[in-house]
Amino acid sequence: MDFLKMNSLSFPASNHYHQIKILIPSHCPHCSQAMKPITTKSHSYNYNSKEEINIFLHQCPDCFKNFVTTHLRKNKEKENIEFISCYPSTRKSQFSRLVEDTSPKFIDIYNQAFSSEQQNHFEVAGVGYRLALEFLVKDFAIKALKQDEAEVKSKKLFEALKDYVDTQGALTSEEVVRVLGNDFIYYGQKQEQIEFNLLKWYLDIFIQQIETKLKLLHPPVASQQVEKQIQS
Ligand SMILES: [Zn+2]
Repeated sequence: MDFLKMNSLSFPASNHYHQIKILIPSHCPHCSQAMKPITTKSHSYNYNSKEEINIFLHQCPDCFKNFVTTHLRKNKEKENIEFISCYPSTRKSQFSRLVEDTSPKFIDIYNQAFSSEQQNHFEVAGVGYRLALEFLVKDFAIKALKQDEAEVKSKKLFEALKDYVDTQGALTSEEVVRVLGNDFIYYGQKQEQIEFNLLKWYLDIFIQQIETKLKLLHPPVASQQVEKQIQS
């Protein structure tokens, strides 16, 4: 995923870490800059007879703050190192104040999904993103469009998107229905990476659409005053 990238480490002093490649966050968890960190310290613990935990301390070259990543080295092989976690976790996604005020629940669930994605829990993240979008579109319909609450709540995500966001049907294609559809995930199905990327692609589009509509409903006070001055 794009929040992780493969990074080559070189610790000439230790053969154990020399020229290994590990996945680490592509952006600094402190300043959010895209970066290639300087790895300054490392340590290993035996986890069981076959696996060990590798811990690395990195420094961001932009803000000079430290962060730690943990990895599982399987069969104690240099080529088989799995990313586990980063501390602090990558910063939460930022949304406009309009979106935050319209649906605090969306922000909460989206960030839970975002956190799951960072831990490589894509199934949980996928379900979370879909639920977050459902809260956003329904809160938008009820609070901003003043639609009947019971009616809005009874609709499926796709119906709500079509009725309140994509009113001209330009975005809600069959593929979108499939990706966002409730029957897309069921017990035993392996979530494919491409489906997850598609889900995020459409998610971003719908969030932007709702944000644009909110901006149109709530223009800045300053621009209203300018309009009044122009009219008078
Ligand atoms: Zn930084």
